[in-house]
Amino acid sequence: MRETKVLIIGAGPSGITAAIYLHRSNIPFIILEKYIVGGKVATTAYIENYPGFNKADGVEFALKLQDQLSYNNIEITYDEIISLKKEDDYFLAEGNEETYKANYVIVASGTEEQKLNLQDEQKYLARGISFCAICDGALYKNKEVALVGGGNSALEEALYLSSIAKKIYLIHRRNEFRGDELALKEIKEKNNIEILTPYIISSYVGEKKLEGLILEQVDSKKQKEIKVEGLFVYIGSQAKNDFIKEDIKMNKGYIVTNEYNESSIKGLYAVGDIKDKVLRQVVTATNDGAIAAIAIQRELKKK
Ligand code: NAP
Repeated sequence: MRETKVLIIGAGPSGITAAIYLHRSNIPFIILEKYIVGGKVATTAYIENYPGFNKADGVEFALKLQDQLSYNNIEITYDEIISLKKEDDYFLAEGNEETYKANYVIVASGTEEQKLNLQDEQKYLARGISFCAICDGALYKNKEVALVGGGNSALEEALYLSSIAKKIYLIHRRNEFRGDELALKEIKEKNNIEILTPYIISSYVGEKKLEGLILEQVDSKKQKEIKVEGLFVYIGSQAKNDFIKEDIKMNKGYIVTNEYNESSIKGLYAVGDIKDKVLRQVVTATNDGAIAAIAIQRELKKK
């Protein structure tokens, strides 16, 4: 068992900011990551709304985070927490590799992609259906693909794919998009992106891999088939909270916190996309991490 003062679960922008602030306050901590440093940022095409960067490539941004950790001699522990419980005045976090004991926990576990959950979806996962344009986009060079969703992720990733694929059908269930006006304007200017609204995907077509989609026009219910080799799904995310084995206040799966980012469980903080809040962006994630770390520092000073 590894013991520490603070356990940070997740090394995306919020967890990493918390780590940097704790490091600078000389508070012992362990920062865990199950997959890649940077979290969702590392699989994002571009970030254009973070101060100091005109247009940062997601991978480049994640590498800069990694660099900053190395510069501060902060080591990442690769492990996935499967159970988090509170016992008296400490937390026990059981990982796949190790068990961790900590006085405070900062949950920065983010979200995971929402799936369409249509019939036979499992059959097409990794055989045409993807949740990451950065990871899989190159497989569709000069091919026809579809992308579903109407938020910022959908718009930004459609723009990214427009420089790789021959044609992109952007499918959204409403005529209005949730994503930025600026990104939508850029999309409309691309001659290889066709916007299909209001449409939903009703089923997949293909023998062994995805070959097309059956779409349904929301108003008329009329169906049509489009031939595509790939479908990129960007229809939002769900909070990654299944490892929290305590009764904690949540709103639709997101952890409710006070202004210091402390949850309904004393000593357990939630930062980044897992926190219940109005704006999920890198800039708000870093802010959350800094506040939680400083709140813990103040708690420790009181003791
Ligand atoms: P989102 O903003 O929640 O958008 C999800 C989209 O998917 C919505 O347009 C929604 O349609 C659609 N949708 C949901 N369920 C669907 C279903 N079953 N079938 C078809 N369509 C469905 O998700 P996101 O784009 O992943 O963004 C998540 C958060 O990250 C947001 O707060 C976003 O602003 C932020 N983000 C920020 C940046 C940036 O700042 N650069 C980049 C990416 C993401 P409706 O609109 O009809 O509900």
